[in-house]
Amino acid sequence: MWNDKKKAITFSFDDGCRRDEDVVRILNKYGLKATFNLNSALLGTHFARDDNYKISPAEAAVLYKGHEIAAHTLSHPTLTLLPDDKTVVYQVEQDRLDLEKLVDEKVVGFAYPGNGDGEIFDDRVAKILAEQTGVRYARTPLSSYDFEIPTDLYRLKPTVHLIDEKLFYLAEEFVNLKTDEPKLFFIWGHGFELDNGDGFDLGTFDGFCRYISDKKDIFYGTNAQVLLEK
Ligand SMILES: [Zn+2]
Repeated sequence: MWNDKKKAITFSFDDGCRRDEDVVRILNKYGLKATFNLNSALLGTHFARDDNYKISPAEAAVLYKGHEIAAHTLSHPTLTLLPDDKTVVYQVEQDRLDLEKLVDEKVVGFAYPGNGDGEIFDDRVAKILAEQTGVRYARTPLSSYDFEIPTDLYRLKPTVHLIDEKLFYLAEEFVNLKTDEPKLFFIWGHGFELDNGDGFDLGTFDGFCRYISDKKDIFYGTNAQVLLEK
């Protein structure tokens, strides 16, 4: 696993927003790998969060090459609020299958969408994903603030949110960590968060990527590569 390295870093970005073009450019510059969680029914549509158009289906097939595409539901509903199990399966599985067709690759990942109107996931929804879809891991937006290998792949907690104030502290700790056990630094966010004027901009992201890159003892992989490849 991880080319015999004990440490791995992975990124996860949601929603397929326009700023992903810059995110991918910077990741590629430093040889870093990410997973992009896309709503297939919303690709190319106007996105209120950054007042721009989301990456179109044709663009997605090209832009994300070399990274992983994962599902994020067709239209970004809060899964726990959907009327029945069948609708949950449809939102997840149809998105997954549409994305497989789009990129002509297997899609096995998922990130829970959140809209601030209810619980993002619960035991019922996690069970539906595990038993009734082709999803093999499902990422939540809850930070673990640790580097342990996730054991519950349907309630997967990343280490930290990209714009969290602890990001650089954790990065320094991880880069300097000596370990015989596998350890994972898992960062999640949205491209549009690099626009929001809170001081975390593209330059900050570039500096962060430069800082964590090019370390001989770290494996850089997509979410599926670091979680599923043995
Ligand atoms: Zn989302």
